[in-house]
Amino acid sequence: MSDARRALVLFSGGQDSTVCLAWALERFASVETVGFDYRQRHRVELGCRTRVLAELRRGWPRWAARLGDDHLVDAGVLAQLGNSALTQQRAIEWQADGLPNTFVPGRNLLFLTLAAALAYRRGASVLVGGMCETDFSGYPDCRDETLRMMQRALSLGLATPMDIQTPLMFIDKAATWALAETLGGPALTSLIVEHTHTCYLGERRLRHAWGRGCGSCPACELRRAGFERWQQAGGDAPASAGAPPHP
Ligand code: ZN
Repeated sequence: MSDARRALVLFSGGQDSTVCLAWALERFASVETVGFDYRQRHRVELGCRTRVLAELRRGWPRWAARLGDDHLVDAGVLAQLGNSALTQQRAIEWQADGLPNTFVPGRNLLFLTLAAALAYRRGASVLVGGMCETDFSGYPDCRDETLRMMQRALSLGLATPMDIQTPLMFIDKAATWALAETLGGPALTSLIVEHTHTCYLGERRLRHAWGRGCGSCPACELRRAGFERWQQAGGDAPASAGAPPHP
């Protein structure tokens, strides 16, 4: 049964937003995607976006029928504000306030505002994002309360309901793999392993059972640990898992 509303998915090309996109395609009659270029260090992510979209269209005809336009929005102003390990060549470390320096202040608030403005233009009333407060780095703009308040502010400021859906908010990375499997079977978990990008350092040459990445940055650690917990809990190993490293 599908929801007749049009949804706009914040789609980065990473694991979480790919699962959110599959979740939205299963649920909403019409789905569009938006990504942001904020001069991120791991710009390979932007290339992963188009590959994941093409693979979803190829492998799931019923999703392809619902999947509409993809939008890439320039959010380069975030790089001007500077001082994050995601937008500058800096070592990833913890700040005095307890947040990692991969935190880009205001990033998700800006993305949601830009996405809502685009959704308004495109006739969409649902925003779908992969924010999660259970096992990420404690980013305050990923917390449920922040998003509930953003939903209210955007709906008031646009004078139209803007529903923010965050299917991953209260689940951990192992449950995210399990959700992917439920939505699209081993073909979807294989697609996620092979084509989505998570690594903070933008590493794509090293191939592990859980995907490509340096294997040691916080994002890789989180992805690997979640994958291993999911496998231990009986998750289906993706068909291509265990393949030798990409040359
Ligand atoms: Zn990494």
